[in-house]
Amino acid sequence: MLTGRKITVIGAGIAGLAVALAMARRGAKVRVLERAPNIAEAGAGIQISPNGFAVLAALGLGSELLSAGLESQAVELKDYRSGRRILRFDLTKRQYGNPFVLVHRAHLIELLERAVHGAGVDLTLGVSADPAGVDGSLVVGADGIRSATRRHLNGLEEPFYTGQVAWRAVVADRADPESHVWMGPGRHLVTYALGSGLRNIVAVEERAQWVGEDWNQTDDPANLHASFAGFAPEVRYWLDGVEDVRLWGLFRHDVASRWHDGRFALVGDAAHPTLPFLAQGANLALEDAWVLAICLDRLPQQEALAEYQERRGGRAARVVAAATANARNFHLRNPLVRGVAHGILRIGGELMPKAALNRLDWLYGFDVTCERHGALHQVSVSR
Ligand SMILES: Cc1cc2nc3c(=O)[nH]c(=O)nc-3n(C[C@H](O)[C@H](O)[C@H](O)COP(=O)(O)OP(=O)(O)OC[C@H]3O[C@@H](n4cnc5c(N)ncnc54)[C@H](O)[C@@H]3O)c2cc1C
Repeated sequence: MLTGRKITVIGAGIAGLAVALAMARRGAKVRVLERAPNIAEAGAGIQISPNGFAVLAALGLGSELLSAGLESQAVELKDYRSGRRILRFDLTKRQYGNPFVLVHRAHLIELLERAVHGAGVDLTLGVSADPAGVDGSLVVGADGIRSATRRHLNGLEEPFYTGQVAWRAVVADRADPESHVWMGPGRHLVTYALGSGLRNIVAVEERAQWVGEDWNQTDDPANLHASFAGFAPEVRYWLDGVEDVRLWGLFRHDVASRWHDGRFALVGDAAHPTLPFLAQGANLALEDAWVLAICLDRLPQQEALAEYQERRGGRAARVVAAATANARNFHLRNPLVRGVAHGILRIGGELMPKAALNRLDWLYGFDVTCERHGALHQVSVSR
């Protein structure tokens, strides 16, 4: 039972706020320690797919999230230069039971922070926690990719540079309820509207080295323009609107081998940072938060933590592998190989549109809040 139990969470990103809320809703007395002096998110968008939305809805935040963002109708993969459609995932044709929402990160964080306060969580800012010095019988490490809690459990493992950098920008644009992925040699660009007249742009380029001191820095929009000069006029039109842009080196770890030791547990990027090419890092963090809370509510702590890793490890590994595969598939350099691969996808999508749509069911049709016979299960998606 979580009622009355004292739990400390390290980190107030999406994972930390969500796990604090999920546990507080089940009666735990939660305190969150956050290093930053205030909770702020980079000015950029985030895609909350049906599997992540399910958790936010179960935490009572579904309708507020929907009104803060825009419901996506489709995801389209396109050729970078011609703009020709290669594959379309028409989300209206699938009934996942939950929407796919495009939203500004600041709105999501505000929503979670307000809910956490409302649930009586004690949130302390400006405290850099050393896991070894944190007391209490349960400490949750939601401290991101450079997690000190992960090091405490798994020894010294530095995240590695994946050979890719990402620019992130927001420009003014009309509402368009579709996400677009433009795939080119060694680079791709993802863009979607956020509602409230804004469009999010994430542009990824392969680069041998990352030399920035920080892995998140401001960049000159001219560099972004130059890298995507060969892309279709529609893309260049959006890039013309970019005034401020941030550049990130994309790093990751393998999925942690130890997620808990009986007193500490990991959630979110601390356990399984992933490339953003499936837009699942935050969605996985939301799933973790829910599963950890229900395991702790139903089982003695040692069993609960073992059950938590058992339920989450395989799913996280599958998502990380699929996102890594997208890095290769989006960036095919050889024009012949690219032409054949895109042709197969396009013809497959035209001849067997259902099969193309089904490809994402394992991801979006997974609802951790939906239980049968005491076990979490994959919801069946109506066709
Ligand atoms: C370009 C890009 C686009 C993305 N798009 C999407 C998307 O569309 N959909 C999606 O689901 N995911 C997306 N992601 C991934 C997603 O942003 C992350 O997976 C998610 O934000 C991770 O949340 P987190 O809370 O685990 O970690 P973080 O957001 O890193 O939060 C960790 C927190 O812990 C704090 N902290 C760290 N150490 C300490 C300490 N010792 N003491 C106290 N506090 C500490 C930090 O200050 C921070 O606030 C994207 C990522 C990138 C790079």
